Amino acid sequence: MADFDVPKLEDYLIVPEPRDKVTNHLAPFLAKPPHQSDLGFPEELVDNWKDVAIAKMGDLLGKYRSLQVFLDICVHCGACTDKCHYFLGTTDAKNMPVARQELLRKVYRRYFTFAGKYFPKLVGAVDLTEEVLDDWYSYFHQCSQCRRCSVFCPYGIDTAEISMAAREIMDAVGKGQKYCNEIIAKVFKIGNNLGLPEPALADTLEGLEEDIEDDTGVKVRLPLDEKGADILLITPSADFFAEPHVDGLMGYAKVFHEAGVSWTLSSKASEAANFGMFIGSYENMRKLALRIREAAIDLGVKRIVFGECGHAWRVAYSFLNTLAGPFDFLDQNYPIPQHICEFTYDLIKQDRLRFNKEENDHMTVTFHDSCNVARGAGMGGYEGGQFEIPRAVIRAACNNYYDMDDDTIHDATFCCGGGGGLLTDDLMEIRVKGAMPRMQALKKVTEEHGVTNLAAICAICKSQFAKTLPYFGFRMDQIVSVHQLVSNALVMKGSEQEAELDGSAEEAGEAETA
Ligand code: SF4
Ligand code: SF4
Repeated sequence: MADFDVPKLEDYLIVPEPRDKVTNHLAPFLAKPPHQSDLGFPEELVDNWKDVAIAKMGDLLGKYRSLQVFLDICVHCGACTDKCHYFLGTTDAKNMPVARQELLRKVYRRYFTFAGKYFPKLVGAVDLTEEVLDDWYSYFHQCSQCRRCSVFCPYGIDTAEISMAAREIMDAVGKGQKYCNEIIAKVFKIGNNLGLPEPALADTLEGLEEDIEDDTGVKVRLPLDEKGADILLITPSADFFAEPHVDGLMGYAKVFHEAGVSWTLSSKASEAANFGMFIGSYENMRKLALRIREAAIDLGVKRIVFGECGHAWRVAYSFLNTLAGPFDFLDQNYPIPQHICEFTYDLIKQDRLRFNKEENDHMTVTFHDSCNVARGAGMGGYEGGQFEIPRAVIRAACNNYYDMDDDTIHDATFCCGGGGGLLTDDLMEIRVKGAMPRMQALKKVTEEHGVTNLAAICAICKSQFAKTLPYFGFRMDQIVSVHQLVSNALVMKGSEQEAELDGSAEEAGEAETA
């Protein structure tokens, strides 16, 4: 199946011996000229790329104080070395977080520190050469910006920020990555990552309404561009067609229906994803975020709810107000924005949703904490809410639930291997190898507790696992959406499921009386 070695799953995670140049040949396709220019970057590598790169680095050091601090304070303690899933899966020494940072740090020292300018060899400073640029392109695209390493660093050095800065510098010299830049351009032009135009989106939503009615007998609406609705749902475009994402979208629609709220999707902001973060571009991230503000104003909504998308939730939770605020025109009585899990959990706490958990009894579920939710965002307004709330929603809908090992969940969660703009077929080898630590934890909980399914609240994780699970002997349909579990078990008022349940309850009552 694979034309590369797939890491073997052991009984426990083994930290490998670092090796040189194992994955230096892996790099994504270069962005084509139109995708570069659509984002305001040079179409191809500029002649004076070295000067431009150093000037851009200087610009970023001035703009982001954290970047300079991260480049200055590493003491090479080594605590981060075995924390990256790409190192564990590839054994490549440059995939150790500190080594990845060094790729940029060495150049920073050479051009921005006194010692590096005058005694480069003494302090390990190097000139920016084509070879260094190639290493940047390769290894900064073998970082999913998951931030796991930063949790274990005594100084909190965030390799993700260093990798974002490196990608920003590469875009500035005309060496951008095809997958991310093409997608951002598509969102600007059409409104979503998939390039799904408004009529196709409307058709898809109509089809989903029919599916829900066939299944439950209840007319549940999935409205598009409905002015005056209370809630604007911003969700990843994968939710509109791919499995298991679309089952999650049907779950959100059923929950909104049961809550009796009016809601709408927007064709203008039909994408929650914000790949501007992956390429480190504040300007592009802002432009993408402003679509959401404009859609909310155009439609006159009072609230914004985000669907299941990990990095989109990080951008929404941590940066949306800075990028596109103030949101003073929304109802201040609700979180701005709110996550769909928070929305559903509130209803569960108020006992306003009825579940028949037996509908999920064919599954034993575990939960994969997505990096950007676990380490870059929150939920519920209290510490750890982002870990508890999705699990509480799953437990409300399922009888059988087990967590994976403690050192692989919550803020120590392992990346799926496809985040940070790596979810492209040209990076399949690094994606499969990077998935190994999560697969190893899944294997363990499968053997110990009979876990059959992995639930997630991130579109990238779901797509990545659908592709990579089979490499490790699992089935692609073992990955499920959290709101797919909700959808399976939710007993809507007036539904065939409700009639069946109440009918059997009545029959049981009659039998007892007799
Ligand atoms: S941010 Fe994640 S992918 Fe990047 S070096 Fe750290 S652990 Fe590895
Ligand atoms: S844990 Fe932090 S200080 Fe230690 S080597 Fe890694 S980045 Fe440097």
